[in-house]
Amino acid sequence: MILIKEKLSSQGYRMTKPRQAIFANLDHEPQSVAEISDRLKKQKIKIDKVTIYRTLTQFVKLGIVEETQFKDKISVYELADQEHHHHVICDNCGKIEDICLDEKILVAAAKKNSSFKIKSHHLEFFGLCKKCC
Ligand SMILES: [Zn+2]
Ligand SMILES: [Zn+2]
Ligand SMILES: [Zn+2]
Repeated sequence: MILIKEKLSSQGYRMTKPRQAIFANLDHEPQSVAEISDRLKKQKIKIDKVTIYRTLTQFVKLGIVEETQFKDKISVYELADQEHHHHVICDNCGKIEDICLDEKILVAAAKKNSSFKIKSHHLEFFGLCKKCC
């Protein structure tokens, strides 16, 4: 569990009820704003999508949440307190799964073949999940 209160207060933010509720509904499974909104609705918590989006953007800036964008699809958000990993997404139903890769060779090659000081990367895989095969 991240010390989210400390992270917020170190940046001058307060832990408000909406922030608390949104944080409580974040997971290690990537979710879209619409999915988080649905979860909140089921819990009878009223937070509009704009507020959810804004809060998630703040969380991303604070390093609490990681944002991933798949192709032209919408952004998904998951907790950032986990090991570096990648995603595979179903082209048909949009299901997302985490995958861990041994990517030492790839990362070394990227560093070697570029003039940049590389800090991070995103790598996504696409296909069909078990249900959609
Ligand atoms: Zn990676
Ligand atoms: Zn699928
Ligand atoms: Zn993930």
